[in-house]
Amino acid sequence: MSKTAVAVSFDNTENAFAYKSERELKKARFLFSSMGYQPLVKLGTKLTPWAIKVGLPIKNLIRNTIFEQFVGGETLEETAHVAAKLKQFNVQVILDYGVEGKEGEANFDHATEEFIKVINYAATQPNIPFMSVKVTGLARFSLLEKLDAAVTAKSGFEGKVHTEILTPSEIEEWERVEQRIIRICEAAADKRIGVLIDAEESWIQDPVDALTMQMMERFNRQRPVIYNTIQLYRHDRLQFLKDSFASAQQKGFILGAKLVRGAYMEKERKRAAAMKYPSPIQPNKEATDRDYNAALEFCVDYLNYIALIVASHNEYSNLYTTELLDKKGLPHNHPHVHFSQLYGMSDNITFNLAKHSFRVSKYLPFGPIHDVIPYLMRRAQENSSVSGQTGRELGLIRKEMERRKAG
Ligand SMILES: Cc1cc2nc3c(=O)[nH]c(=O)nc-3n(C[C@H](O)[C@H](O)[C@H](O)COP(=O)(O)OP(=O)(O)OC[C@H]3O[C@@H](n4cnc5c(N)ncnc54)[C@H](O)[C@@H]3O)c2cc1C
Repeated sequence: MSKTAVAVSFDNTENAFAYKSERELKKARFLFSSMGYQPLVKLGTKLTPWAIKVGLPIKNLIRNTIFEQFVGGETLEETAHVAAKLKQFNVQVILDYGVEGKEGEANFDHATEEFIKVINYAATQPNIPFMSVKVTGLARFSLLEKLDAAVTAKSGFEGKVHTEILTPSEIEEWERVEQRIIRICEAAADKRIGVLIDAEESWIQDPVDALTMQMMERFNRQRPVIYNTIQLYRHDRLQFLKDSFASAQQKGFILGAKLVRGAYMEKERKRAAAMKYPSPIQPNKEATDRDYNAALEFCVDYLNYIALIVASHNEYSNLYTTELLDKKGLPHNHPHVHFSQLYGMSDNITFNLAKHSFRVSKYLPFGPIHDVIPYLMRRAQENSSVSGQTGRELGLIRKEMERRKAG
């Protein structure tokens, strides 16, 4: 382990929470304690979407608790104060228009306009270098599913979508999806904002990959604009990363790679069992970790041609990346290396990386409360699992409160 790497420590809670007042810390402590109580989260994640749907007056309660912790605001403009605060600590922002699960052509067109607004807004801000896009916000899920059935992982890294399987009207529908994504990518390239395409369920991922590779081929010639997301909880993704890179090299563009472990594990396993196909998920956590860290090594080995985003709350993976860079004598602020954690989580990683001059951001969703409910419910579940974040977050918050009291 090199000298500088040792100096990065994620235990420093003074750095981690410098941006939080006493009151805000207490609030966070209360929230994480509540989320640690599993029966409450189970009930809450069942009842909340229903309560919002039938119009029960719970919006204020949500706004002042879980929404405030994990979301930047209801509108783009409302995120400004969060971004400004983060900027004081050299932390950047990835803006995420967090509306999910809205189908229909009008909604897809509306989302496209929102994404372009986000890009235009980000371009006026000093610390918003990226925004994220979910293709399911622009395309019908079942259309992606149908396309997925016709393509293979190979089509994904080759950037080929096989539309033979579609009806004439579906082909037109797909062309509209392509136009939406092209408009978003053009706006981003023009304004020099990076676009991170999220990875979703494996049964729609091949066309998403193919489309993303097409966009990279078009827009990543000089510098990285478009990034695909690689989920290393899938046992085939380390190879997919390598194949994507080979394809990018052959076609002469920079591969944008955002590495994640993956957010849909239970769903993936359940579907595979129900439909009797082999699960795409790794056999255990160790295998996911092994491939994640191997993917980091691969990207750092080819940093001239790969732009890497380490999107993780795993302390070891973040630290390991800093060590890999140090070993190669690469600068902490290398233009092809970026770290990111979700807003409201793992401040100890984000703010300590920023202190050591790494390029790091918070992934900041925004949107009307009723539209970001799915995102919030995922955060609640993730923070309530026994092996999950809660213990760690609570421990850090308590440690900082003690430190302040003693000081
Ligand atoms: C900035 C950012 C962007 C993200 N974007 C996406 C995205 O586009 N798509 C997406 O799917 N997710 C995304 N995620 C979520 C991510 O995939 C993980 O779910 C989350 O970050 C937890 O993983 P971790 O690396 O932080 O750390 P850890 O807490 O070390 O890992 C937990 C993860 O390990 C894997 N895992 C746990 N148990 C097992 C097991 N028994 N067998 C195999 N694997 C296991 C799961 O993926 C689980 O989420 C994003 C996360 C961040 C921070």
